[in-house]
Amino acid sequence: MTGKSALTLLMMALAANSANAGHEHSLDGHHGGGQHAHVHGHAHMSLAQDGNTLWVEMRVPAFDLLGFEREAKDDGERALINATVYQLRQSQTLVKLPEAANCELQKAAVESPILEQDHSGHSHESHGHKGHADIEVSQQFECQNPASLNAVEVALFNNYSRIERADIQWTLEGRQGSARATPAESQINLK
Ligand SMILES: [Zn+2]
Repeated sequence: MTGKSALTLLMMALAANSANAGHEHSLDGHHGGGQHAHVHGHAHMSLAQDGNTLWVEMRVPAFDLLGFEREAKDDGERALINATVYQLRQSQTLVKLPEAANCELQKAAVESPILEQDHSGHSHESHGHKGHADIEVSQQFECQNPASLNAVEVALFNNYSRIERADIQWTLEGRQGSARATPAESQINLK
């Protein structure tokens, strides 16, 4: 895979997510969007490596991290959101990478409709957030020895006890696969 194609895939994924944003807040919670099922306790993750760069991404219901799925309504909730966002930006919150791969976190971003402070530019209908809301995290690592990315430990479960499973898709060194991690089986083989 070339650098361009990995980046293109990432951009497409981001575009698909933002195109979907208007559908997350349907009141019945059963919007037939198709690709965006939202089940509490269930996280989706992806790992994609190209050269020395590794992207780790996660989408999870906000409820699983916060216990609610709307904007903060008091200082306590604001503090919880801020602490959670801070934690999600740390290198070992989502996965523990093999030490031999020698990976260092370069960038991290956390996005969610419930984090938006500035509503300008949004259509009126996208306000309210009465339905479900996801939190999306992306982390970019630089790995000195990407060939050693043979397994990861999903650290998510240690940090967020509401998460019961994580479905993971990965593309590493031209190999692709998928796996399901649970608190009992948090180690994932990437071979
Ligand atoms: Zn929900």
